[in-house]
Amino acid sequence: MILSIGKFRILLAMALATMALATIGLTAGVRSSRAEGAWADTRIAEPFVCRADFSLTQADQLLEELAQLQVDLTRRLGIRPAREPIELYLFANEAAYRRFLKEQLPEVPYRRALYVKDGGPGRVFAYRSRQFEADVRHECTHALLHAVLPVVPLWLDEGLAKYFEVAPGRRAFDNPYLGGLRWSLYFGKVPSLSRLEKLGEINSMGHAEYRDAWAWVHFLLHGSPEARQELVGFLADIQARTPPDLMSQRLARRIPDLSKRFHAHFRHWKR
Ligand SMILES: [Zn+2]
Repeated sequence: MILSIGKFRILLAMALATMALATIGLTAGVRSSRAEGAWADTRIAEPFVCRADFSLTQADQLLEELAQLQVDLTRRLGIRPAREPIELYLFANEAAYRRFLKEQLPEVPYRRALYVKDGGPGRVFAYRSRQFEADVRHECTHALLHAVLPVVPLWLDEGLAKYFEVAPGRRAFDNPYLGGLRWSLYFGKVPSLSRLEKLGEINSMGHAEYRDAWAWVHFLLHGSPEARQELVGFLADIQARTPPDLMSQRLARRIPDLSKRFHAHFRHWKR
């Protein structure tokens, strides 16, 4: 069982546990964490079943983006679309969000937004903070990945979530990490992928680790056709439950001048 709690992930046991598949439906197969009538609005943007304590007309664009996020992930990563529903719970303010979590998930450490998977459908919780839309895209990326992959290495999970949390039009070129990464590369430091691969606990990831994980994901998606093929192959292995080699080893075999290529990618990357 994997209990995956947003940026605080605990691997309890049986990482390769079979995940139950359920048919999308407003009520069938969907556990609601409180009575349906208690929510102000409910929408389906497959595979997401969204419940909110405010009117979702205010979140129409975000919900459209989430349906597109599923399409983007399957196209860019070659993974299957989620066949199980993902429940999304949205709150108008932090007080209501905190109250709900205290009542429904008292054992889960508090975070501004959460992704929880504990045997049933994945559940995402968020409130309308200043980072609301990025938080929802971030946690929903985790949810979509974990709906179809039995495991996702922490660096890749967070790197992809950081990449896809940015609004679609700004993802490739305007990520806030880009400036800092370029500055660090100016001094010649290519972030160590092998070091990231050794991180197993979300608490071992700080700003630099999130940035470096994002940077490797960016290189894998945009750096070269070979890098992209390795990413797709790596995820295909995981999806087929074939243990993949470490990404650092795959890339070293495939791209002998990897550090040089990583540098060149970010030096020349522009719209
Ligand atoms: Zn995350």
